[in-house]
Amino acid sequence: MTKKGDMLYAWTTNADLAKKAECGGAVTGLLAYALETKMVDAVLAVKRGVDLYDAVPTVITDPKDISKTAGSLHCGSLLLSKLVNSYVPGLSGKKIGIVVKGCDMMGILELAKRNVINLNNILMIGVNCGGSVNPTSARRMIKDKFGVDPDTVHKEEIDKGQFIIEYEVGQKGISMDELEDAGYGRRSNCRRCKLKIPRQADLACGNWGVIGEKAGKATFVEVCSEKGANLLDKAVSAKKIAVEPANPKGVEIRAKVENAMLKLGDKWRRKDFTALSPNLWKTIDKETSRCIKCYSCIDNCPVCFPFADRFKKSSLMVQQGFLPVEPMFHMRRFAHISDTCINCGQCEELCPAEIPLALFSHAIRTESDAAYNPKLGKAAYIN
Ligand code: FAD
Ligand code: SF4
Ligand code: SF4
Ligand code: SF4
Repeated sequence: MTKKGDMLYAWTTNADLAKKAECGGAVTGLLAYALETKMVDAVLAVKRGVDLYDAVPTVITDPKDISKTAGSLHCGSLLLSKLVNSYVPGLSGKKIGIVVKGCDMMGILELAKRNVINLNNILMIGVNCGGSVNPTSARRMIKDKFGVDPDTVHKEEIDKGQFIIEYEVGQKGISMDELEDAGYGRRSNCRRCKLKIPRQADLACGNWGVIGEKAGKATFVEVCSEKGANLLDKAVSAKKIAVEPANPKGVEIRAKVENAMLKLGDKWRRKDFTALSPNLWKTIDKETSRCIKCYSCIDNCPVCFPFADRFKKSSLMVQQGFLPVEPMFHMRRFAHISDTCINCGQCEELCPAEIPLALFSHAIRTESDAAYNPKLGKAAYIN
């Protein structure tokens, strides 16, 4: 019997799924099993659209279709929590399986806190996440730094600190450090993110720590809840998933990589937040003066969107139909998310005025965490 805290190597027993999957295909195999046995009525995951820069969220109800979602799209910087909410009317009262990165998981938890969704109906299969690359910037990076036409790339992966592409005449890899020093690579919120293993999901799945003959052929699974343990046990009994205990050396390596990623996150926080010092509010004031009041930041923020209409209609916040925007509009939004911003990056990524909104809200959140929770230690980067 599997229990919370167990660490396993797991892989699908379905040869077709194994071919399409990123590593062992445990994620897709488990979702297929959950659908077949009606543990869930639908799955919300991501499939490749026209090319590898096009990550398309998709709802699957027929287990035969689940293979379309296998594989990782590192240029898929979307957030699934908003979509759960959008799909809820159609799936009201139904059980949904969702594949979540750390930010997707946090977005779902924020919605649950606000009673927008019921966690009893949600099965969260977490995937570890070193970071995602904005699709437009990925195309630019491949052209400028790799010297390759982005349309000729058919596969990408992030492995051992390198962004690797496979294209029509071969393979090329460049270290993430080099790419990021040149202003490419992972989104800036991802560099600061410290939610690398989503342990508040039911299972946390990844490739870190899979070594020996199973390297590349198994998924490392950390069991994070009884719900996750139950799914895994049943799928193993039905012979849909095979498992073995994780190699202890692999467990050690995974912990070391996670630790190194957390330190890297701290390094980026120091760099990004200190650059805002000492004039955070002046910088915010100046940058947000470009705002065109499109409300995209509010509509796509997992913390704000349940209140979006109230926010937009409040005469305290905005004078309808006028530009430039009143500084209080942004100040109030930042105050609203100051203790809840999950650093998902959506506000910044979708802002047509290219205002570094996630940087501001993440800096404010980090400072307020440090102020209210001394155990977190001094995180005061901003003077
Ligand atoms: P599969 O059976 O192939 O299933 C993969 C699942 O991921 C599918 O359900 C698919 O819909 C979903 N998916 C694909 N792209 C996205 C996306 N952009 N957002 C949300 N869901 C998506 N593992 C590590 O150990 N270390 C890492 O640094 C790491 N970084 C990652 C970064 C990203 C952006 C992603 C998406 C995954 C990352 N992973 C990382 C997880 C790893 O790539 C595999 O997803 C995991 O090992 C499960 O393997 P599998 O063969 O069981 O998955
Ligand atoms: Fe991954 Fe964190 Fe970036 Fe989300 S914010 S894509 S969990 S690194
Ligand atoms: Fe995500 Fe921005 Fe909202 Fe923070 S403020 S949760 S980064 S959308
Ligand atoms: Fe203003 Fe950008 Fe928000 Fe649109 S997304 S309302 S332009 S800050």
